[in-house]
Amino acid sequence: MASSEELHKRRGAAVARGVGSVIPSYVDRASGGKLTDVDGREWIDFAAGIAVTNVGNSAPRVVEAVRAQVERFTHTCFMVAPYESYVAVCEQLNALTPGGFEKRSALFNSGAEAVENAVKIARHATGRPAVVVFDHAYHGRTNLTMALTAKNMPYKHRFGPFAGEIYRVPMSYPLRDGGLPGAEAAARAIELVEKQVGAENVAALLIEPIQGEGGFVVPAPGFLPALREWATAAGVVFVADEIQTGFCRTGDWFACQHEGIEPDLVTLAKGIAGGLPLAAVTGRAGLMDAVHVGGLGGTYGGNPIACAAALASIETMHELDLAGAARRIEATMVPRLQAIAERTGVVAEVRGRGAMLAVEIVQPGTLTPDPVTTAAVSAACHAAGLLTLTCGTYGNVLRFLPPLVISAAELRRGLDILDAAFPG
Ligand SMILES: *Cc1c(COP(=O)(O)O)cnc(C)c1O
Repeated sequence: MASSEELHKRRGAAVARGVGSVIPSYVDRASGGKLTDVDGREWIDFAAGIAVTNVGNSAPRVVEAVRAQVERFTHTCFMVAPYESYVAVCEQLNALTPGGFEKRSALFNSGAEAVENAVKIARHATGRPAVVVFDHAYHGRTNLTMALTAKNMPYKHRFGPFAGEIYRVPMSYPLRDGGLPGAEAAARAIELVEKQVGAENVAALLIEPIQGEGGFVVPAPGFLPALREWATAAGVVFVADEIQTGFCRTGDWFACQHEGIEPDLVTLAKGIAGGLPLAAVTGRAGLMDAVHVGGLGGTYGGNPIACAAALASIETMHELDLAGAARRIEATMVPRLQAIAERTGVVAEVRGRGAMLAVEIVQPGTLTPDPVTTAAVSAACHAAGLLTLTCGTYGNVLRFLPPLVISAAELRRGLDILDAAFPG
């Protein structure tokens, strides 16, 4: 087998530079809470492929379902010759997502594609053009979703011009807005929309219930319910982007459930299919069915192998109670992270929910972001065999997204490495 060093050389001559990687090691195999690279080195996985392998890599049920499907047929295109597993995934999503009302789903390949389609559906159903998004938001890398995403570097820089009719308003970010109560933060955002856009022009309000790439920002309690209430009154489609937060990641099936809100549409991807590419828009039947026949789709959307993997993943989440597992991960990790915060003085906040946790790193005694220390801690983790990711508008958030099947021993080992990677 080629070594990581050899592969890295080949990569430089073959793979576009714009596609980066967090670590220079090349993966040979992975399962549970561990990756093994081609050099035989083991890594504790606090990334889960960016919140994708919630059921773990090569989860047994997923492997079996994929193997069985790949032998039956690999692709017919649901728009050409349909098959049961697509329908079954939609049934599952309609039942699992928040909201007791009648729902429909449509399947796609990536999160960005799901977000694009949610906007298409909301615009079509309402006949309105505008989309409201938030500071620090991340919704993808396609042209429309770059416009919806807040951060310039690396996502948007020199990739414009961007799609129009996108309006950005302030997020509730308790650490950085003086702890503004959720209802007041919502009122601030709503006033901007009403004064600068006009509620009657707004098709959709699009929000991550806990922000992902933007820094694992958890809005103050009451923020999401107040926005939900306003959207209902204004005839605006409330779209929850649960692409990173979904499928047991935050200790429940979906993050909206923690605040008891029912979105009109939900975008789903990442954790949905145990690592196979699949995405969905799920929501109110009246909105979803507003679109004319043939208006939604795509060649690969709801590919049968990905659908088989999704059904097996969802079964695994039920069977292993992975929402409970996420809550147990939180209970183990948060005290350790708080101890690191107290010992080092560089952590302004430990935040997140379930197995979606982060520390925001600052210069001691201030709120000044410290991306240099963040990068140094991250590099020290990598050197010691712990795969961690950074995020945040200011590049100063270290985030933790272990597979929900990580063993207690692997989790402890990861936390020990993390602890030692901090200065002081
Ligand atoms: C990752 C992500 C997306 C984009 O998903 P892709 O599959 O990478 O296109 C959109 N929204 C959120 C919240 C995400 O975390």
